[in-house]
Amino acid sequence: MKNQAKFWQRHDDWRKAEQAWDARAEKLAADTPLKTFKTNPRLPGIRSKTRKNLSWKTLSYLHHHDYSGKLGRYFWRRPLKHGWGLLVALLKRKSYRRDGDFFLYGLKNLTEFETQLHASDTVLVVGFSYCHKPFECPAGRFTDACIHDAGDPVCGQCFIGKCVHSLPDTQVVPLFITTVHYIGEKMIEAEQNWPDHNVVFMITACELTLEMFGKIGVAVDLQGIGVRLDGQICNTMKAFEASEIGIKPGMAIVEDETQARMMALFRQFSAETRECSQNAGSSRGDNIIVSDRGYQ
Ligand code: SF4
Repeated sequence: MKNQAKFWQRHDDWRKAEQAWDARAEKLAADTPLKTFKTNPRLPGIRSKTRKNLSWKTLSYLHHHDYSGKLGRYFWRRPLKHGWGLLVALLKRKSYRRDGDFFLYGLKNLTEFETQLHASDTVLVVGFSYCHKPFECPAGRFTDACIHDAGDPVCGQCFIGKCVHSLPDTQVVPLFITTVHYIGEKMIEAEQNWPDHNVVFMITACELTLEMFGKIGVAVDLQGIGVRLDGQICNTMKAFEASEIGIKPGMAIVEDETQARMMALFRQFSAETRECSQNAGSSRGDNIIVSDRGYQ
């Protein structure tokens, strides 16, 4: 990456950094607009035929595509706890609480998540579905890489780039998601890498994936927020399975209002991180730097 320093680090004030990013993105969009749809098709999140027996379709899909065996091994490490959790999740109609485009897993409300963001032992896994990477993404779309080059005109217009540049370097695991197994495996890795920390997540995904992922996530005790994508989403099993092997001709988006809500949460986490970093002896001040593939 040519411009190593994060955009936010060049500004003293978080809000000013965001204003500067947005102004630059607007200018770039006028000069070199990215390919996207003209009108949001406003598709239903999940087709009614797809919704039928979705839990069983999910279990079958996850089992038959667990090529590394990591998810299966994690589940069977605590068969009683995870088995019971799965049974409860399958019997419940919904495995999440909904707050606008936020799907809350293992959380009573958004305030509970905000409280976790303020805790010094929190590690935030932030995942972005590849479905909302720009077609012109210099790192490629169906890959878990992101160069978030602040000098690149595509990255400068990309919401994923904006998020990554705004996030602190400490106690954050940024992920660029290709498949449901990928995110599951990375969540397990994050929990293993921070055994004494509280790992929570915020990931963007189509409603179908959020519904499918939620059952399993709740069963194994994961807590966090799934952010619903809009636009040209996958709302059938056929489209979902094609997207899992990189066939995704459409463009998904995070709605503007939802982008603002995500940024507000990142800001809270960043402010807390800065405060903790200034406190000698704070566990968040220990400066644990995550360097995931594609995140430098
Ligand atoms: S910020 Fe990352 S995802 Fe966005 S265009 Fe750049 S490389 Fe692609």
